[in-house]
Amino acid sequence: MSISVQVTPAVPLAEVMSGLVGPDHVIVGAAMAAFATDVYRARCSPSAVVRPGTLPELQAVVGAATSARAAVFVRGGGASYTDGYLPTRSDSILIDMGRLNRIVEINQRDAYVTVEAGVTWKTLKEALDPLNLRTPFFGPFSGIAATVGGSMSQHSISHGSSEHGISAQSVIAMDVVLASGSVLSTGSSARGAAPFCRWYGPDLAGLFCGDCGVLGVKARITLPLLRRADAFECLSFAFQTLPALADALRTASLERLDDEHFAIDAAIAQGQIARQERSGKRGLVAGVIASSPSKWAALKQLVRMARAGTDALRAAPYMAHFIVEGVTARDARIKADRLRTLMTVAGAEISNTVPAVVRGMPFAPLYNTLGPNGERWVPVHGYLPHSRVGEFHEAVTALFASRSDQMSRLGVWNGGMFMTMGSTAFLYEVALYWPGRPSAYHLQAVPADYLAKLPPGADCAETVAFVDRLKQDLVALYAQFGALHFQLGKTYPFGSVLQPESLALLRSIKRAVDPGGLMNPGGLEL
Ligand SMILES: Cc1cc2nc3c(=O)[nH]c(=O)nc-3n(C[C@H](O)[C@H](O)[C@H](O)COP(=O)(O)OP(=O)(O)OC[C@H]3O[C@@H](n4cnc5c(N)ncnc54)[C@H](O)[C@@H]3O)c2cc1C
Repeated sequence: MSISVQVTPAVPLAEVMSGLVGPDHVIVGAAMAAFATDVYRARCSPSAVVRPGTLPELQAVVGAATSARAAVFVRGGGASYTDGYLPTRSDSILIDMGRLNRIVEINQRDAYVTVEAGVTWKTLKEALDPLNLRTPFFGPFSGIAATVGGSMSQHSISHGSSEHGISAQSVIAMDVVLASGSVLSTGSSARGAAPFCRWYGPDLAGLFCGDCGVLGVKARITLPLLRRADAFECLSFAFQTLPALADALRTASLERLDDEHFAIDAAIAQGQIARQERSGKRGLVAGVIASSPSKWAALKQLVRMARAGTDALRAAPYMAHFIVEGVTARDARIKADRLRTLMTVAGAEISNTVPAVVRGMPFAPLYNTLGPNGERWVPVHGYLPHSRVGEFHEAVTALFASRSDQMSRLGVWNGGMFMTMGSTAFLYEVALYWPGRPSAYHLQAVPADYLAKLPPGADCAETVAFVDRLKQDLVALYAQFGALHFQLGKTYPFGSVLQPESLALLRSIKRAVDPGGLMNPGGLEL
C-alpha cells in the first residue's frame, strides 16, 4: 500500500505532512528544538518535524517532501554529535523515526530478527533476552535511545564488538526508502525472498551502512540471531601509560578472547565516580543481579564491588575493562585466564566493578551526555592503525599542552576512551568538557531527577567558540594522521579526502538514488 498526495507550492509543507501522518504527528515551532539539536549543538530549524508511523507513511512523507524540492533529514534516537541529522536549511523536514519502533519478526527457526529502523537497541535486547537469543553486535552504550537504524547509518561499535565486529557486520538485509519514495531491498530480499542471507552479488546492504542517511531512509533492518551465553567473566586492568595500554589491547585483539572491552583514562574514570554518586546505586545492584547466572554469583560480585569501593576507578592513569563470555563457566574462565596472562605483562589486575556494572546495565540512562558536574560534553574520535597510535598520542598531548592556559582559564578539560576494532585498528577518542547549560537535547534525553541534582551551569560565548576551535583542530589532527571515522555526519572529512575513482562512483550512486541531492544535504561531503 502507498499513500500519495498532491503537493503544490500554495500548500505549506507542514500542512502536506499533516495530511499524510495526521496533525498529531507533525511538530512545528519551538517544540522542534528538542528534535533538531544533537548532543553537541543545533544548526537551523526545519519546516516541520514529521513522525511517520508505518512504512507507507514514511514513503509518502519522503516522496512528498522531495517532490516539493524540500530536503529530508532523518533522526533515529538522536544520540550523535556530528551534525548528522541536523537540518542545514529551513526548506526541509526532519523525519523522527520514533514511531517506526516495531519488532516485525523474530524468526527462531531461520535465526533472524527484523525490526523497524526506529527500534532502540534496548528494546531489541529486551525482546530477545527471554528467548535466550541475542544479535551478534547488540548496540552502543547509548542503546537506551540509539536506534538500530541510526547505528547502521553511521557505524557503531561496543556491545559484542570484540567477538562479532561493528554494527554493519550484524546486518542481513535492509529495506531503504529512496528519495522518490520507492523501497529498495538488499540481500536475499532484493529478489523478493525472505531476509535470510546478505551475500547475493554485490553487497547492497554494505552500501547503505555508514551512509549517514544520504542515500535513503532505512525503514526495516534484519539482523542474525545467536544463542545468548550465560557464562561470563568481568576483568579490569590498570596501566601506567597509553602506549602500554595500547600494546596490551593490540595483543589481546589478536586472540579474540572477549565479547567486548573498552579502556578509559583517569579523567573519565573520575567522572564515572561522580555520576555514580549522583545517580544512586539501586539500578546498578538490580543490573548485577539480573545479569548474573545465579543469585550466589550475584552476591559474590556485589560483595567484591563493595569491598573495592571507588578505589578501582582511581587505580591508574589508564584502565581497560573486559567482558569475556563462554559456553560454560569453565570456558569463560579459560579465556579470562588467557586474557589475564596477556594483560599483566604490562598491566596490573584491579577490581572488576566497571565491567560488572556494564554487564548488568549495558544501556544506562544518558547521564554521560553531560560531565560529572553538568559540564557540556562532546567526543571527537578516529581509528588508527596500531603503528600510528604512539605518535598520535604524543601529538594530541602536545596540542592540549599548547592550549592548557586557556583551558584552565575557561574550565575546559579532556578525557580519553580507547578500544580496538578487530585486530587491525585502534579507536582513540577524546572527550571535551566545558562549563555550560544543558541544551534542548539534554532536557529531553537526560532524566529530570538527575538534571535537578546538577549544579546550575552558565553558557559563555568565548568558551563555546574556544571548544569549537579545539574540536576542529582535533579533527584536523586526526586527518593529518590518516585516521578514519565512524559517525561522519557533517563533521569529519569524507568526500574531500576520497580518491577520484571512489568519489566518482559514490557520487554517481548518490545521483541514481537521490537525483535532486535532497537526502541529508551536507552529509559525507557528497
Ligand atoms: C552516552 C553516549 C554513548 C555512546 N556510546 C557509543 C558507543 O558505545 N559506540 C558508538 O559507536 N557510538 C556511541 N555513541 C554515539 C551514538 O549514540 C551512536 O553511534 C548511535 O548508533 C546513534 O544512533 P541514533 O539512533 O541515536 O542515531 P542518530 O543520532 O539519530 O542519527 C545518526 C545518523 O544516522 C542517520 N539516521 C538515523 N536513522 C536513520 C535511518 N533510519 N535511515 C537513514 N539514516 C538514519 C542520521 O541522519 C544521522 O546522520 C554514544 C553516544 C552517547 C550520547
